[in-house]
Amino acid sequence: MAYNFYGLSRDIPAEIKRQVRQRDGFGCVICGLGIIQYEHVDPEFKDARQHDPNAIALLCPHCHAKVTTRMWSKDRVKQAMQSPRCRQVGYARDFFDFVNGHPSLQFGGMLLHNCTTPIEVGGRPLFQVKPPEIQGESFLFSGLFTDSKGAVSLQIKDNEWRANAASWDVEIKGPTITVREAHRTVHLVLTVAQPNTIVVEKLDMTLGGLRFEANGNFLGVTFPNGGRSEFTSCIADGAAVGMSF
Ligand SMILES: [Zn+2]
Repeated sequence: MAYNFYGLSRDIPAEIKRQVRQRDGFGCVICGLGIIQYEHVDPEFKDARQHDPNAIALLCPHCHAKVTTRMWSKDRVKQAMQSPRCRQVGYARDFFDFVNGHPSLQFGGMLLHNCTTPIEVGGRPLFQVKPPEIQGESFLFSGLFTDSKGAVSLQIKDNEWRANAASWDVEIKGPTITVREAHRTVHLVLTVAQPNTIVVEKLDMTLGGLRFEANGNFLGVTFPNGGRSEFTSCIADGAAVGMSF
């Protein structure tokens, strides 16, 4: 059903969706998972005359199904909307999975294959890969992204990613996570490309006095002394440390 009895389209306008995401901290109001759907809580969609952000909540597919089948009451959701889970803990979360081998990192113009520490900054790993603890299970990827001001926006610990609920916007579409630090200011676009590559398509990140700018197949790194390195179509394969700054 594309429209309800009152002629309201099922498509929620992008601006309303963003308001709901910002209020709920980018994850399910009940459990905090970052893979979400938009649910008209009260009134339900069939009775709604407008897309009122105050009547819409973020729910993950799991919690959404429990509410739709009435295993959980609407009051459960309304209560959670008063104090969304991601606002309580400070992040929305979910998991990556790398069962098909050692994860690779495409960091703008730099492809890092089979590196234990794909990138280190100031002698400390920025990204790190651990082999599976049990054969056949997933490799474990860790790392973090900061925004152009140096604030942590996305942290990954042993495949669990946590998107900062204080970011301006975090939007997940298919396998892509987009983080904006202000209106029309994208700071990170990260896509999981099966079978095992994390692709940083876009990045504007400041860390330890360095500025990393990625766009498609390009990576620019600006150093504290003003020097600059640029990388296009570069590959590191099988190194303990892929890139060191
Ligand atoms: Zn949930």
